[in-house]
Amino acid sequence: MLQLVVATRNKKKLAEIKSILKGLDLDLVSLEVYPDAPRVIENGKTFQENAIKKAVKLARFTGKLCLGEDSGLAVQALNGAPGIYSARFSGRDKSDLKNNQKLLKLLVGLPLTKRKAFYYCAVALADKAGLIGVVEGSCVGRIAYAPQGSAGFGYDPLFYIPKYKKTFAQLGEKIKHKMSHRYFGLTKAKRIIQKYIVKQSAN
Ligand code: IMP
Repeated sequence: MLQLVVATRNKKKLAEIKSILKGLDLDLVSLEVYPDAPRVIENGKTFQENAIKKAVKLARFTGKLCLGEDSGLAVQALNGAPGIYSARFSGRDKSDLKNNQKLLKLLVGLPLTKRKAFYYCAVALADKAGLIGVVEGSCVGRIAYAPQGSAGFGYDPLFYIPKYKKTFAQLGEKIKHKMSHRYFGLTKAKRIIQKYIVKQSAN
């Protein structure tokens, strides 16, 4: 069976990726299977650049079909910050909690209408011959006044969906996985992978 290596060490992100890519006829593994894989320095200027770097570098190392994913939060009132710096927004000593606290501080006093935010996700696919494709997904919400809920990860306790009057962390994976940036990005990537599987089995 064809192996797909996902270039992440983030367990929660991996669980989301697995759940959304369910049904594909391949053996999906993570970097845990390749502990010696080289670390990728995420110094690209866009989510796409970072996703491509992750996929191409890992494909060169493993010789397998690889998926690189880079994602983050862009807050309108902060001119798109934290953006590609989402994971390390609070600096060297970063944590989800500290990132969320910093974000809340920067938005103090702003009403919900001015707290518009987008999650972005870029997904790149590569194999030993190089880059196969790169796609993107996004979703829109508001930054809540305080963290609520315990599902998901990262900024999910603050990512508020007006339609449900709840944060992603309150809504849980069943709903998040049908409307998230990762869902839209990976659904597009799924089509590329399906074509790749067909091509490989014809060879
Ligand atoms: P990456 O691992 O470099 O792609 O960093 C992504 C960072 O963006 C995470 O550490 C989170 O802070 C944030 N992020 C991306 N996607 C999500 C999500 O689905 N929920 C919450 N935070 C997210």
